[in-house]
Amino acid sequence: LGRRRSKVPVGPGTLADDTPIPLLANITRADEAPAARELGAEGVGLLRTELLFLDAERAPSIAEQVEHYQRIFEEFPGRRVIVRTLDAGADKPLAFLPVDAAEPNPALGMRGLRAFRGDDSILRDQLRALAIAADSCRADVRVMAPMIADAAETARFVLLARELGLGTAGVMAEVPSAALLAAQILGIADFVSIGTNDLTQYTLAADRQLGALADYQDPWHPAVLRLVRMIGDAGGQSGKPVGVCGEAAADPLLAVILVGLGVTSLSMAPEALADVRTELRQHTLEHARLLASRALAAATPAEARLVMAEA
Ligand code: PEP
Ligand code: MG
Repeated sequence: LGRRRSKVPVGPGTLADDTPIPLLANITRADEAPAARELGAEGVGLLRTELLFLDAERAPSIAEQVEHYQRIFEEFPGRRVIVRTLDAGADKPLAFLPVDAAEPNPALGMRGLRAFRGDDSILRDQLRALAIAADSCRADVRVMAPMIADAAETARFVLLARELGLGTAGVMAEVPSAALLAAQILGIADFVSIGTNDLTQYTLAADRQLGALADYQDPWHPAVLRLVRMIGDAGGQSGKPVGVCGEAAADPLLAVILVGLGVTSLSMAPEALADVRTELRQHTLEHARLLASRALAAATPAEARLVMAEA
């Protein structure tokens, strides 16, 4: 395997029929960027900004944030960098966010965009800082909001981002309601990125942090795949991009199924890029669609995996 990996050409993600499937990196800090580029990342598909501020006692100033973001954007001239706005909650507490750390059910609580339902000044500052940093760099900066439930929340975020100077604004699809309403959401947002980690947790109603239920946290579950297809179909109909930035994108065999369901880009830990790139090159879009339709018909994750084992 080691030898096979080292032979993989570093180049753009494409299918066997030359359909481009951009392969992007999930990163947090600027010092991860050189390795991501060496491993062939075509940009950043998920910058988890909350991880930059986990130790901050006070909300970072706009100037401090601009400096952080500029350092990252400068690593990707001419490339897309998708920045997720703060996704904190009782489970990933940020000291400066007005979230009740004693919430009984953090996964269903004031997390993601919901943390700014009352006071959105911290979100506004973050978007302002991103707009300033984007203006001063050559990266193709796009923003997206986490934990979006419907089109009304999408509109609230997208309008705010545009008002504050960000041209391209999307949302994460990681709550099942967002998958069910994907066509409405894509009527407003410029793109969606599917967070398969949370989408799986919420579809199967099993806490992703609970070891005893870890087997539920399986994005091969046909219920999850059906929601991905709804989002992929909405993407196809609207002509807007649909990415995946959850762990599922890093599984080479599942990546093929995701593409067959209508996903147009994949973002993952940089170490996973080579194997995903190699696998995608084995399949045409038509073949990926056929495999995806078989996986959708499965009754269990194990049955869905068999589709690729037998491909
Ligand atoms: C996800 O939910 O799939 C995702 C990418 O976001 P996070 O893992 O940070 O919740
Ligand atoms: Mg998530």
